[in-house]
Amino acid sequence: MRDVSKIFHMGSMLSRIRITAVEHVSFRVGPGEIFGLAGESGCGKTTLARMILGFEEPTSGTIALRGRDGQPIVGRRAWRRAGVQAVFQNPFETFNPLRQVERYFFETVQNYGLAGNRAEALERIERALQMVGLSYEAIAGRYPAEFSGGQLQRASIARALLSEPSLLIADEPVSMVDASIRMSIMNLFRDLVDRLGVSVVYITHDLATAYYVCDRIAIMFRGNIVAMGNVDKVLMEPKHPYVRLLMECVPQTDPKKRWRAKVQLSASETEEYLRAGCKFAGRCPHAMDICKQEVPEEIYFEGQMAKCHLLRVSQGVQ
Ligand code: SF4
Repeated sequence: MRDVSKIFHMGSMLSRIRITAVEHVSFRVGPGEIFGLAGESGCGKTTLARMILGFEEPTSGTIALRGRDGQPIVGRRAWRRAGVQAVFQNPFETFNPLRQVERYFFETVQNYGLAGNRAEALERIERALQMVGLSYEAIAGRYPAEFSGGQLQRASIARALLSEPSLLIADEPVSMVDASIRMSIMNLFRDLVDRLGVSVVYITHDLATAYYVCDRIAIMFRGNIVAMGNVDKVLMEPKHPYVRLLMECVPQTDPKKRWRAKVQLSASETEEYLRAGCKFAGRCPHAMDICKQEVPEEIYFEGQMAKCHLLRVSQGVQ
C-alpha cells in the first residue's frame, strides 16, 4: 500500500463532515510474512482490509498485489480470484446454518473455475481441507451447527485456500473461538505461511495473539499508522505513547501488574478523527503544544517507526 487514504462523508447535506478513515498509509507485506494490523475498534483497520479485498476503492494512493510467483496480479477480478482471500471473525456467520458446509466448497471451486469435473473438485477440496487438519469425510453432509467453532474456522480457512491465494486477510480470526483452541488456529496460520509461502494480514485488537503470531506489526490510531516494525521491537520496546498504554492493558499473569493502567476512552471518536495535529493528543499523557498543531512525521528509531513529536523532543531524533 502506498500513501493510501480513504475519506467518508457523514451526516446530512447541511451538516456534512469529512472523516479520513485511513490517512496516508503505506506498508508492504512480504511473501510468507504475517503482518499484524492492530488497534482499538474504529481505528481504520477494517477499512484498510476492505480496500485490500477490493470491497472499497481508496480515495487516493495505490494498492498493488503480487502472486506467489512474484508476478503482479492486475485487476480487481483477478485479485478476488487468485490474489487475496478473507477469513472472518465469526465462522458461524460465514456459513448459512441451513446449508451443508461442503456446498460452499463446491460452489467456490465452480465460481473460480478451479476444476473440470467432480472428481477434480473433490481432489482440490480434500487437499485444502488436509492443509488445515480436516478431511472431506469430516465435513461431508454436515451443517455448521454440527461443528465446533474451531473446526468451522478451520473449514473457513480451507475454503479461503481453495484458490491458492497469495494473501490471506484474517480479520479477528480467533476472537470468537474458545481460548483453548485459539492457539491451535494461530499455529495453523504460522504453519500455512511456512508451508505454502502465503502472506497473512492479521487484523486484531488483541496484542497478545499478535505478539505470538506476527512477524511485523503496524499499530493504528484514528486512521493513521502510529508505530510499525518488527513485532518484538514495537510491542516490547514501544516508542509511541499510545503503544505503551496499550501494552499496559494487556492482561498480565503477575497480579500486581494486572490492572495497572487503562487506555482512557475517547470523548468522541469523530472528535479525534477531526483533530488537527496528533490525533492522540487528547488522551496522551505527554501531549505538548506542538502536538495539537502539527501532525507528527514518521521517525525511524532503534529498529522501528513511530509517529510522535516526543521522540524528537526527548531523544533528539531527526
Ligand atoms: Fe503524545 Fe504528542 Fe506523541 Fe501524539 S505526538 S503521541 S500527543 S507526545
